[in-house]
Amino acid sequence: MKDFFMKNFVTAALMVMAVTLAGCGTESMKVSNLRCEYMDNPLGIDNLTPQLSWKLESSGKDQGQTAYRILVASDAAKLKKNIGDLWDSGKVACDDETSIVYGGKELASGTECFWKVMVWDKDGKQDKWSKAAKWTMGLLDRQEWKGAWIGFDKPRVDAEKIFKVKEKAKAKEKTKTNRLLPAVSFLRKEFRVDKPVKRAMLYASALGNYQMSINGKSVGDDYFTPGWTDYNKRVYYNTYDVTGMVNMGVNAIGGILAEGWYSGSIGYKLGRDFYGKNPRLLAQLVLEYKDGSAKLIATDDTWKASVGPILESGFLAGETYDAQLEMDGWDKAGFDASGWAGVDITEKIAAKIEAYPSNTVKVFQEIEPLSISEPNEGDFVFDMGTNFAGFARLKVKGAKGTKITLKFGERLNPDGTVYTKNLRKARVIDTYICKGSDIEIWKPKFTFHGFQYVGMTGFPGKPGKDAITGIELTSATPVAGSFECSDKRLNQLYHNICQTQRANFIDIPTDCPQRDERMGWTGDAQAYVRTACLNTDVQSFFRKWLVDLMDAQLENGDFPKVAPTVVTYGSGGPAWADAGIICPWAIYEVYGDKVVLEKHYDAMAKFVDFRQKSAPDHLAPKKFHCFGDWLNINAKTPKDVIYTAYTAGDAQIMAKVAAVLGKDDDVDKYNKLYEDIKLAFNRAYVNEDGIIKGDTQTVYILALWFDLVDGKMKEKAQQLLIERIKERDWHLSTGFVGTRDLMHVLSKIGRTDVAYRLLFTDTYPSWLFPVKNGATSIWERWNSWTPEKGFGSAGMNSFSHYAYGAVGQWMFENIGGIKSAKPGYKEIVIKPYITDKLTWAKTSYDCIHGKIAVDWKRDGGKVTLNVTVPTSVKATIYVPGKAEPLKVGSGKYKFNSRLKIRIMQQSMEI
Ligand code: BGC
Repeated sequence: MKDFFMKNFVTAALMVMAVTLAGCGTESMKVSNLRCEYMDNPLGIDNLTPQLSWKLESSGKDQGQTAYRILVASDAAKLKKNIGDLWDSGKVACDDETSIVYGGKELASGTECFWKVMVWDKDGKQDKWSKAAKWTMGLLDRQEWKGAWIGFDKPRVDAEKIFKVKEKAKAKEKTKTNRLLPAVSFLRKEFRVDKPVKRAMLYASALGNYQMSINGKSVGDDYFTPGWTDYNKRVYYNTYDVTGMVNMGVNAIGGILAEGWYSGSIGYKLGRDFYGKNPRLLAQLVLEYKDGSAKLIATDDTWKASVGPILESGFLAGETYDAQLEMDGWDKAGFDASGWAGVDITEKIAAKIEAYPSNTVKVFQEIEPLSISEPNEGDFVFDMGTNFAGFARLKVKGAKGTKITLKFGERLNPDGTVYTKNLRKARVIDTYICKGSDIEIWKPKFTFHGFQYVGMTGFPGKPGKDAITGIELTSATPVAGSFECSDKRLNQLYHNICQTQRANFIDIPTDCPQRDERMGWTGDAQAYVRTACLNTDVQSFFRKWLVDLMDAQLENGDFPKVAPTVVTYGSGGPAWADAGIICPWAIYEVYGDKVVLEKHYDAMAKFVDFRQKSAPDHLAPKKFHCFGDWLNINAKTPKDVIYTAYTAGDAQIMAKVAAVLGKDDDVDKYNKLYEDIKLAFNRAYVNEDGIIKGDTQTVYILALWFDLVDGKMKEKAQQLLIERIKERDWHLSTGFVGTRDLMHVLSKIGRTDVAYRLLFTDTYPSWLFPVKNGATSIWERWNSWTPEKGFGSAGMNSFSHYAYGAVGQWMFENIGGIKSAKPGYKEIVIKPYITDKLTWAKTSYDCIHGKIAVDWKRDGGKVTLNVTVPTSVKATIYVPGKAEPLKVGSGKYKFNSRLKIRIMQQSMEI
């Protein structure tokens, strides 16, 4: 079998090959993007030995760092004078700029740490000091939390009373009412500031979701804080610098507290009270006065509570807001709270209280509607143009009491109304009741929806486009990748992948953002993690979720279906549970993050032990849970084959992890385990003709991806994989499991031609089939909608599921040609596969060292290739048409080469 490149573009003698090296190597390096714990200027971290990192830029060639010096100071002025009173690392010979562990004085709670770095380049030339960056320490000792967990339980009691009455009334009709959601609580307190304030820091947490405000202004721009965890084990707090928000004299602090994931409806059982019943807020404002004294305002029994305009709010139900009930100035000094009640208190909770370790959820962008239609009189439908997660901001001028209802869906029904059947039991309706002032602008606080279309009823008159603005939310993971090429359909596919990632990276990686599910499905996360890394910087996002996953590990060492634990229990089974091995390894591979491996090694080892004990003959046990090759197309892959192959893969990874961590005995143990499983796999599942049990595309993909077959059997497996694709008229039949590795395996066996053929297919099933049918996101099923049958079964049919978007990694690595060859992209291979289906492609990836960029253009057989290799990185570049690669260091390179083109054959012989 020949490589696609060889097969379709027979290489001619290289006609032209020019290498232009930009820059002349005399300029020194510039340090940028200083980060602490892989975040920009984080506030309130609780790692006493945080990791510091930075990026280097240089216009010179083959540049890299040979030494660094870090200064950390307790105030900005000292740092300016080059005094590192907390840490002066001195000059340290080191070429690593991505994981330097703080080694200075022990850091106390609340400490401000100002830091900068200076580096020496490969010629020993010293650079200037970098710009200053900052981090602050959080509350490091549980004892320092002086407040109590406060809340307001009455709304819940009231809601239940009303519910019971309604249920009774309905009993005669034998119908059920929807469970009522309690009104959202408002909590407040006033306090005095008598002396000039030097610094004011707010630490806040909740069992539920909260939004703090001071003197009438919201604190921060985060959503759904403090994030989703197993609240019985761990709850996070967020830290805000509110120095500019407090005044001399009387001040007011407020907190709005919603049920969120803690006690609101979550998952497909719409289960309430999963982690607890009554939401609670814990907040602590630390005022540091200029005279050196300090004052603390914490949540306690002096706070007051009330309900307000947010009549109900839930992730799955939506939010109802009655502006007539607004309490003007409730979070400002001087507000008359005499009618407010006392708060309900929980003194202590058992869970750990830790600093939020990741990027919070924030607004990603505002989206203007493309068009408005009116399928029924008075029912308006806004097309937002893309299927995202977030909510709609409403702008309206209406009489007092006017009620506007917004519903949300991903597609339209044939009659032009919003399709909501696939939301299952999730209500997904926001309601706004006007107070009757001039123009009213409203957005919900504690809910989000997955949607492209907004259905509006009750609007006074005909709305203009400005009545609705889409507010897209996502965990604020910095954008890291870009991809564009000459085929618009692939560009749309790439848009759909990124869009679906943003929609589902909302504090945790979820399966979907719209229906009554939205959980951290482990199988989906492991299938997609490598693509996620190429789109945005998800290092701290996955660091956080891996803690959720380890918290959810079962007693026996198995990993679950979803993390954080919720609603659905028990083993995730093969390709789901294995997320516990695959995801930490992916984060190490992409970011060189050894800490993740160290932190989770024991849990990972426990899981592999569990798998081993469950199947002493190295095959699958008699009974086990398995979702199979989920959503495959009439190609049932035997579950024991999946189990055995994935377990072999785990052993392979564990051997590598053990090697990274210097655990030599374990390296041997896991290598042996892998070999034993491989032997068992061959004996049990591979027959003498090389046919693997099940004989589906996926079985061959698994065998080849995990290197489970050798020699003749490997050749057979390669052949059979292509046959299984050919017999489907060159279509895939894979589900979540097979699709993850399908394209990589085709490239690995030298059949990138077949991979391209699959990629450019737009008939069902294929990646471009949804694109052809107007998809703006990745669908859960290959046939979530077809022109012949319309919508797939509403029982399980999301239009925003990232698993099949895992092809994104292949696109970056093979069209773009950017591949990591050493952990953290310290060494890279640049090898784009030029195809006659594209005339150009432009790809970039901002790796942990800096930006890698590749763009190529093809004009007939003439190819131009531009490559940027970041500082500190070595690259092996395969120039199209040249057999021998070039080894280079950082710099910008340009190559011209010529290929002889042979017309691509329509059908390929095997
Ligand atoms: C989810 C999936 C998940 C699956 C388990 C579904 O309901 O949406 O993405 O992996 O269950 O098979």
